Order: sequence, then structure tokens, then C-alpha cells
Amino acid sequence: MSGPASTRRSTLAAEIRQRTGLNPARCYQCGKCSAGCPMAQETRLRPHDILRLVQRGRRDRLFADDSIWLCLTCETCSARCPNEVGPARIIDALRELALESGEGEPPRAIRAFHESFLKQIRRHGRIFEFGMIAGFKLRSGKLFADVAKMPATMKRGKLALSPRRIAGVDDVRRIFDACSAAARKEVQP
Ligand code: SF4
Ligand code: SF4
Repeated sequence: MSGPASTRRSTLAAEIRQRTGLNPARCYQCGKCSAGCPMAQETRLRPHDILRLVQRGRRDRLFADDSIWLCLTCETCSARCPNEVGPARIIDALRELALESGEGEPPRAIRAFHESFLKQIRRHGRIFEFGMIAGFKLRSGKLFADVAKMPATMKRGKLALSPRRIAGVDDVRRIFDACSAAARKEVQP
């Protein structure tokens, strides 16, 4: 086939291949990845659907859907794949492409969770749950969601009110700084 549709199709698969070294064309739709995916019940597109859309060059479908952002990067799909396609890394590459091209972005709640999580790791070297929940609620606008569960959670000792910092927190911060510097370098023309 020739023309704009086929060019676009090969472009997405080629971009993924260049970025990851993985070849989406190797997927033969056996569905083993989706059968083991812990998020398959929560997403419209399961891993094998995503691979099929990559093969077909359907950036519009992939970037308009929340599914790629709901992936937990647990790697179960990649471990189960009999043909070493690597769906987890391919989904990660799709996220990178969506953000870089401006064609898609994570839903507000998912972005809020990641930002809150990373901020806690940078500050304490580990998760301080109370601070993370507060940060998530402020960023996501979900101020009163699950508030009724807090007393029981605190009673069970699952929600400490003060953070504990790890001894190597300066090393953790150096890793964050190095990653930020590398990311800035990548986006420079
Ligand atoms: S890495 Fe993502 S797509 Fe793969 S099994 Fe885990 S949640 Fe599902
Ligand atoms: S397990 Fe591998 S070959 Fe099978 S559908 Fe998933 S990605 Fe494709």
C-alpha cells in the first residue's frame, strides 16, 4: 500500500523502533500480554490493542485515550510475551511521544499522583503518605474524595503525621538533579 495512510502507519512504528530498539511488527496478536495485565479491566485499550493500533499508525486513537497513562509499568505483559515484543517499553515510548509532540497528555489526576509521589521521594528519600495524599488532593482538585476513610486508616497506624527521612536523601536528590539536567538537555534544539 502507498500514500499518506501507509506513510503515517510506518512512521509511528518506525519512531517506536528507533526510540526503543523494539519492533512492534513482531506482535502477532496472541493476547497473552492482555491476559496477564492487572489494568486490563480498567482500560479501554489493552496491551495487544495498543500494539495493533501502533502497527496501524493510529496515533489519533492512542493519544486520545487514557489507557497508555494508566499502565503501571509492571512489565507483566513484556514477561509474558512469547515473541519479545516488549509492550511495556512500547507504551512508555508512546507516552514520551505524546508529551513531546503535544498530541496527548495524562489526565489531571494521574499527573497529580506522579508529581506528588516524586516530590515526596525527593524531599524525604521515601514516601510520606500523609504529605503525598495532601499534595495529590491539592493538585487533582479531589479535596474530599475518601476523606471518610482517613480516621480508620490512621487508627491502624497506616498514616503517620510526620515524615521520616532516609540517611541517603542527598544521594536521592542528586539523582533527581541529574535526571532533570538530562531531560533539559534532550529538549534543547
Ligand atoms: S506494564 Fe502496563 S500494560 Fe503491561 S501488564 Fe503492566 S500495567 Fe499492563
Ligand atoms: S503477548 Fe506479545 S505477541 Fe502476543 S499480543 Fe501481546 S505483544 Fe503481541
